[in-house]
Amino acid sequence: MPHRPTPLVAGNWKMNMLVADGRALAAEVAAGAEGLAAGFAVCPPAALLPVVGEAIRGSKVALGAQDCHAKASGAHTGDHAAALLKDVGCTYVIVGHSERRQDHGETDAVVAAKAEAAAAAGLVPIVCVGETLDQYKAGEGVAVVETQVDGSVPASASADRLVVAYEPVWAIGSGLVPTTDDIRAVHGAIRARLAARFGDAAQGIRILYGGSVKPGNAAEILGVDDVDGALVGGASLNAADFLAIGAAA
Ligand code: PGA
Repeated sequence: MPHRPTPLVAGNWKMNMLVADGRALAAEVAAGAEGLAAGFAVCPPAALLPVVGEAIRGSKVALGAQDCHAKASGAHTGDHAAALLKDVGCTYVIVGHSERRQDHGETDAVVAAKAEAAAAAGLVPIVCVGETLDQYKAGEGVAVVETQVDGSVPASASADRLVVAYEPVWAIGSGLVPTTDDIRAVHGAIRARLAARFGDAAQGIRILYGGSVKPGNAAEILGVDDVDGALVGGASLNAADFLAIGAAA
């Protein structure tokens, strides 16, 4: 049975930060992360990747992007090739965030294609899944997430180069969080879907929780079975808060 992974705490800066404040935040995170056991990543907007990469160089903090294109290169104005993200120093790329699914109509098939392109370029995709409030209220959360995992993790994925993030859409940026029982149920279901595909190696896949993770709730959430870290939005924009979440992992 493979060992459980070191937790990963990843900051999704979304469409925030300019050059100076992004550089300062990254440097503060890099300095503060050194003494902590968890793995760390910061995912700034694409135009900030080189600046942030420079600020975290030599530290334990990894660089991640927020999206990539499914194609390796070509005529796709405004998009970013996974190979370029790798070339500017990324280790990770978030794919299928609910804001991309909603704002850009990304389906499970599109997300799977992006994850495949990411892996082909040598990146580790962070594949996001999560139910809407209506689906949660209807008791469909687990089933929705299972379908998303099956459809969004590409057939070619390898267990040692894959992260899955469970982010209930209704918990993102809302201050609402599911109960620990809900989180345990969904993370257990995700692990089971991954085990059906990868066998024992699924134990080594990090399954992150995301959605209103704050210093005050991090220890409780990160202590739930099958929660191997956090994908943090709002609280990742403040170094002290982000590091406090990391310290709880
Ligand atoms: P939040 O965002 O922490 O601000 O809720 C999480 C995410 O969308 O990744």
